[in-house]
Amino acid sequence: MDAKDLHPDSIAAQALGWIDETTRAVTWPIHVSSTYIRDPDNQYRSGRGYIRADNPAFDQAEAVIRALEGGAQAALFASGMAAATAVFQALAPGDHVLAPKVMYWSLRNWLLNFATHWGLQVELIDMSDSAAVKAAIRPGKTKLVWIETPANPLWTITDVAATAQLAHAAGAVLAVDSTVATPMLTRPIEHGADIVMHAATKYLNGHSDLVAGVLVTRADDAFWQRIKSIRAYVGGTLGSFEAWLLTRGLRTLHLRVERACASAQRIAEHFAAHARVEAVLYPGLPGFDGHAVASRQMRGGFGGMLSIRVKGGEAAAIATAAKVQLWKRATSLGGTESLIEHRSSVEGAGSPVPTDLLRLSVGIEDAGDLIDDLEQALQQG
Ligand SMILES: *Cc1c(COP(=O)(O)O)cnc(C)c1O
Repeated sequence: MDAKDLHPDSIAAQALGWIDETTRAVTWPIHVSSTYIRDPDNQYRSGRGYIRADNPAFDQAEAVIRALEGGAQAALFASGMAAATAVFQALAPGDHVLAPKVMYWSLRNWLLNFATHWGLQVELIDMSDSAAVKAAIRPGKTKLVWIETPANPLWTITDVAATAQLAHAAGAVLAVDSTVATPMLTRPIEHGADIVMHAATKYLNGHSDLVAGVLVTRADDAFWQRIKSIRAYVGGTLGSFEAWLLTRGLRTLHLRVERACASAQRIAEHFAAHARVEAVLYPGLPGFDGHAVASRQMRGGFGGMLSIRVKGGEAAAIATAAKVQLWKRATSLGGTESLIEHRSSVEGAGSPVPTDLLRLSVGIEDAGDLIDDLEQALQQG
């Protein structure tokens, strides 16, 4: 059967069902060669010459992610940051770029402290407000609109379809950091996005044991070819073993995301009116700003990420994080184990994150156990 006729769960479970024709193995082998034979007549008929440009170890993971996102091509990178920065590096000095005020903090810092040095004009705006996007976009000058939805760590929702229309009307590309939604919940290309980016370190791999990134494109156009060239020249390429592990992780993506969404929804509802909680930030709560847009563009759940604002401010939040036992105090997200983090300690100055906020990455443990652990931590906190 053609991948386009298959349900995403079937694509993921079999990683497209690739069989190694040499051995008939149902698990695709790990390719580690750094170089490839040139034919006697000086051609490279295999289409491969050197590992920095291209690696057969990437083929299966790229094909699975491309199929899940409904894109034309996918490219793995050495990290989510390597993938994201390749998109900006494909622009030219003087190009104007719009990015969200609420976004993954490392990328925001890189945009403000490095991309600007290369002559990109970076403007951070409220992407949840279409009127703000419309006012800030400069037709012919804005070349890229970068969004993240739901966005770290306030889970701000951006309307992909509305933003794509505004970007395209101005002649700009729309790129979406879809790490938190995963292709199981949102397929941004269906909503008009041109480029989709994932920190594959997170849900796509799902086991907190590698760092990887990926980009998917709607069209194999000149901009995409420039991005692919940047990967080959700059060398932000993934290792073969990591690519193989990523493919293994992808096989359970649908199950992990389904469980994380169900538990996150239950946890959000449980703590929404809690005496020790100021607010729960989760797109699945009907009172959350952006809930209506999220309901439209997310299918099957609102993701495994939420934040709680603890009554009593920063000290109470840190004390609560200190008391958890099942939840693990660590950064990152999207693994099988649930993580808790006092986010403003990480982001530092210039962050829009309130100091009483704890970021929760819900794993696949029993939701009741996760609730009980947070309850006892909040009581003591
Ligand atoms: C982790 C993360 C990144 C960066 O990915 P790395 O693999 O750590 O480089 C980018 N965006 C989001 C939303 C993330 O969570």
